[in-house]
Amino acid sequence: MLGRKERVFKKHIAVSLDDLVPEDNFYRYVEAKLDLNFVRDLVKDSYSSQMGRPSIDPVVFFKLQLIMFFEGIRSERQLMRMVKMRLDHRWYIGYDLDEQVPNHSALTKIRQRYGLDTFIRFFEKIIDLCQTAGLIWGQELYFDGTKVRANADANRLVPRYYLEALQTVDGHVQGLFDAGLDTAAASPAGEDDQAVIEDDVQSNPAPRTSIRERLINKYRDARQVGAHGTSYERISDRKVSATDPDATLMRVGNTGRTMLGYHTHFVVDGGKARIILGSLVTPAAIMDNTPMLDMVRYSRFRFHLLPTIAVGDTKYGTASNIAGLEQDGIRAYLPRTDYATRSRLFRPDWFYYDPQTDCYICPRGYELHRHKLDNRDQVTVYRADHYHCHACQAKARCTTSSWGRAIRRSFFQEYLERAAEYRETDAYQKAMRKRQVWVEPLFGEAKEWHGMEKFRLRGHRKVNIEAMLIAAGLNLKRLLMHRGWGRRYGPAGSWALVLPIPTPPAEAYCLFLKYFTMLLKYISKPQPSINSSKLFGMEKIYCFFFDFFNKLVVYCHSYSPAVIITGLPDSSTTNRSAVYK
Ligand code: SF4
Repeated sequence: MLGRKERVFKKHIAVSLDDLVPEDNFYRYVEAKLDLNFVRDLVKDSYSSQMGRPSIDPVVFFKLQLIMFFEGIRSERQLMRMVKMRLDHRWYIGYDLDEQVPNHSALTKIRQRYGLDTFIRFFEKIIDLCQTAGLIWGQELYFDGTKVRANADANRLVPRYYLEALQTVDGHVQGLFDAGLDTAAASPAGEDDQAVIEDDVQSNPAPRTSIRERLINKYRDARQVGAHGTSYERISDRKVSATDPDATLMRVGNTGRTMLGYHTHFVVDGGKARIILGSLVTPAAIMDNTPMLDMVRYSRFRFHLLPTIAVGDTKYGTASNIAGLEQDGIRAYLPRTDYATRSRLFRPDWFYYDPQTDCYICPRGYELHRHKLDNRDQVTVYRADHYHCHACQAKARCTTSSWGRAIRRSFFQEYLERAAEYRETDAYQKAMRKRQVWVEPLFGEAKEWHGMEKFRLRGHRKVNIEAMLIAAGLNLKRLLMHRGWGRRYGPAGSWALVLPIPTPPAEAYCLFLKYFTMLLKYISKPQPSINSSKLFGMEKIYCFFFDFFNKLVVYCHSYSPAVIITGLPDSSTTNRSAVYK
């Protein structure tokens, strides 16, 4: 008989949310391992102690941000829809079944109320917890940056002057309205009133911005005018997005496509836990190397670290970065592009520098004397006497100038030479190999699992908040991993953390196979006390295990250890939420 299910729901009154959430639910472990009560201290200055109605608990707000991070949700509206339906989310934020969860718009307002500084301090507090747990080594710092798309369309750029004029007009009109309202609401201010206003200003000075916030604000503009000045005009100098004025144009991958975006810079500790010590988002027009010194100095002094080396790729190997690191007592393990190899002329390192006479000696034995200082490029120019060069038989291979061969010596040449000597060492080669697998996977994890492929918020301060929360979440995963997830797998991406279990090298397998074979040979020798028929059976068993072990070795070399150890399926074919739900 054809059945029909009627939709009739009873009111259950004897149900507890605590009973409905399984004991091994992930959020129970997070609640047990991470006490977020410290956030009350971070935000207490954002609220009045006497006036107003009670706010949403700041702990609840940050728990919602963590749920958003763990679930890879990109919208607060979607987050609150999910929290409303999910029992474990309700349990985690402490809202019972019949309680109304906060509205999504409240989260936006709370974020605006807290401001960037609160999120910075939240990020730093998580690092402090990692440091207390012994997860930070502090001897090595690794730098890298990645491009992240902005939430704006590159096809809708407007001239920069147009947007500035619009903002000026808007500000002027707003000022007129404000002045009108003030005039209508208040009586003309006399001397007494003026004194009260001045008293107010003195008693309530403008809130001081933290050093970290000033550092972020420093890199807000699309361009850092350094020693090179503004020698040429970029498109981002002329055009700007009205949707997200802080984002600038960037080229994405090898496709040649141009999009609006930002640069996210990470400083990562060299310890096994790979804790992110610094996160900074700048407009995409600001290159990776620009904020390096600020980030390394901030990380050192904020977390009381004494790093010995700083490692980055070729983009970081500028003279100012190398000199700054060396002056700070940190070895600059930064490669530099050797442009001399691209020229068919005599290389600069074929010219000997004599510090006694402060001149270069060319391969033909002539001196190149100090000619001029180039403060823009921070180099001293040494030039040979053009009489010698014109008479020289090697001139065609040495210079094309009719004024004689010139050598440009950096103001920081000693530091550059010291950094070049590092590149010959094994420690440098090891650090370079380590760099390849240190920061980049963190970017991959953030983009693949936690929505950093494209920022959902707009504006320099807001995208910094978003990146700060993601970096804090990544650190938190390491911290929770250290404290123990429990028996269940963690949420999105956390099982990638199993990867630190080292893959045994091929030599170890070979050695083990060798001794295992020797053992088999020894055991399978006919023993007088053993029945021959039984021996045949035992040999078969040994052969079976030998074959099995061989296959296991092949399997181990073919697959990631995470897959073997945890038995987790391939991420591309798996609903990631299903892994731990
Ligand atoms: S061209 Fe001038 S600088 Fe070069 S090798 Fe000859 S003399 Fe020396």
